[in-house]
Amino acid sequence: MQPLVAQRCVTVQTEGTRALGVQLGRRARAGDFIACCGTLGAGKTTFVQGFAEGYGVGAHEYVRSPTFALVHVYHGLTPLYHFDFYRLSCFSEVQDIGFEEYLEARGVVLVEWADKFPQLLPAERLEVSFRIVASGKRGVQWVAYDMLYGRYFLSAA
Ligand code: ADP
Ligand code: MG
Repeated sequence: MQPLVAQRCVTVQTEGTRALGVQLGRRARAGDFIACCGTLGAGKTTFVQGFAEGYGVGAHEYVRSPTFALVHVYHGLTPLYHFDFYRLSCFSEVQDIGFEEYLEARGVVLVEWADKFPQLLPAERLEVSFRIVASGKRGVQWVAYDMLYGRYFLSAA
């Protein structure tokens, strides 16, 4: 599927990446799928932390990368499922943890290293890509693969 809308920005320091996450998380709705892509250290977990805050996850629920647990569940407006495919070597491992059931659970799903298993991603999704551009800067681009995700595009950004 062709991307329908794209937007990009440069975030400054950890706080900037987190703040972008907060802004986008405020626009999230049950059933959304957010694919987070980009190399190690590019800002994916930081973004998810902000996104969770924007979606109403309380500060007492500490959002950290589910590298070992594979999925963490947080409680915002609906459940928020946070996956990390980094340590997975084969897509059947993703299926074994019940990934498809999570997609149907009407929560919000965010996946770090989503591009590792493109065959598992829903065609309709928001894809957010992170790139290290300098020590205190990250280039972030987000792309909608369905107009359902049009609400993630900030009119004044
Ligand atoms: P990933 O999940 O993609 O591996 P993290 O979110 O864990 O990346 O971020 C790696 C490090 O980069 C963290 O220490 C985080 O605070 C920091 N970071 C995030 N955004 C920025 C930024 N814009 N500038 C500098 N450091 C950042
Ligand atoms: Mg991470």
